[in-house]
Amino acid sequence: MKTKRVTIPACEEHCGQMAVNVELEWKCPACGGPRGEVYQTLSFDGSRRLGCDGWVNPCGHVDKYSAVRKEAVERQAVEEHPLIKQFWDSLIHVLKTYPALNHSKHPEEIAFNMNEVNKVFLVAQVAHVNFYELRKLLPESKSRRFLRKATIKSIQTNRSIHCWIFED
Ligand SMILES: [Zn+2]
Repeated sequence: MKTKRVTIPACEEHCGQMAVNVELEWKCPACGGPRGEVYQTLSFDGSRRLGCDGWVNPCGHVDKYSAVRKEAVERQAVEEHPLIKQFWDSLIHVLKTYPALNHSKHPEEIAFNMNEVNKVFLVAQVAHVNFYELRKLLPESKSRRFLRKATIKSIQTNRSIHCWIFED
């Protein structure tokens, strides 16, 4: 099966920032014919424009981004959701510079405060992660298993902090 990796808006109101890369089978879900050539386009959410990929299917069936997002999630049901993958990739990246984001004293766990991570992502400009969506999706993480949300004593500051805790 031929697949293609394309960039699409991660959600309806993308604020000109929230793009996500998804891999799709390159066939029209309505008729099974091939999807069209990919070109660069802009998605307008009512206030901001976002650069993303577009295509026109030769069969005439229109792929809506909302349907394409669903298709990508279903296709990756056994894999990591693209937003979760983006989050872990980004977090592992910033932890090299900001190791103090991990408050866990257990080496086999990772514990972070979501607001802290959100701030560091903005400062470090690593990625435009949609934290609103992320909070809903992250307990489904597959590459690192979600354990619990809890207030723990930080190994970094010795103070109590509310953390999301995962197996590392
Ligand atoms: Zn079609």
